[in-house]
Amino acid sequence: MPSVKRRVAVLLTALVFMSACLLLPSPVAAQSGLTKIADGVYAYADVRNMSPANSFGANAGVIIGKHGIAVVDTLVSAREADRLIRDIRALSALPVKYAVNTHWHLDHAFGNCRFAAMGAAIIAHDSEKDKLALHGPATLKNPQMYGMTAQDFADTTIAAPKLTFTDRMTIDLGGQRVELIHVAPSHSDGSLLVYLPDKKILFAGDVLFTGYHAFAGDGDIDGWLKTLDYILDMDVALIIPGHGPVSSKNDVIAMKEYLITLDAKAKELCARSDDVAYITAELLKALPPRAEGAHLIQGNIVYKYLKKN
Ligand SMILES: [Zn+2]
Repeated sequence: MPSVKRRVAVLLTALVFMSACLLLPSPVAAQSGLTKIADGVYAYADVRNMSPANSFGANAGVIIGKHGIAVVDTLVSAREADRLIRDIRALSALPVKYAVNTHWHLDHAFGNCRFAAMGAAIIAHDSEKDKLALHGPATLKNPQMYGMTAQDFADTTIAAPKLTFTDRMTIDLGGQRVELIHVAPSHSDGSLLVYLPDKKILFAGDVLFTGYHAFAGDGDIDGWLKTLDYILDMDVALIIPGHGPVSSKNDVIAMKEYLITLDAKAKELCARSDDVAYITAELLKALPPRAEGAHLIQGNIVYKYLKKN
């Protein structure tokens, strides 16, 4: 009899233990590195270190609707896209239906391959599809030109946009309307804005640099100023720039002043000198101070104002 009692006691203990196990919370989901901007809207924003390994400080966005997810920009490589995908999966298991490229530059579009492999449709402006096809493969072959290594680009391939447009396109993710808007050639010919009208949030891509010097090597200053004016007229409360912290219309006004100063001073200096180091130093003195990206000033001189490449 005592042994039967003991067996019952053991059985009861086991049942209590199993019940307790069933009541234990499931393992905590991995922490996402994305910052919540609003319900269903997340971003990498305010990346301070502009190094190749962290996509040159490029921001990226994640928009989650009832039926699926759209990503705004895909970072610089397959490895960086994997980081973004891990952070998305810490938030949602919904399918990533779209990956929007605000423009074709490597830090915003070279992670496309990972999203294409997941079945996401890559979306871009018509001209950016062409630019990516023209410059993408050569960039992958010459990573050192961008301070990168072959290892940084491991597994990275150029995935072409499958959906393109010229003026406007709308995506519906289920309760989350996303408008893609091209105003004019600006940071690049086909740089586009990603607008969430219901939330008054705008992903501006590299049309807006906040706290970073701006790269204008492929830029059209007149169209860029027009695009910034367009943003100032929009019903927008929060703006996620291509580089820098979550911004406001005051930062858009500061960007206009930056570009006007850059263009006037660069033209003035380049009219009397082709000494890149001298022009860069003089421009740095004239431009509004910005904590990150001073090396981009030289790129602006070489590619846009002296047209050495
Ligand atoms: Zn760019």
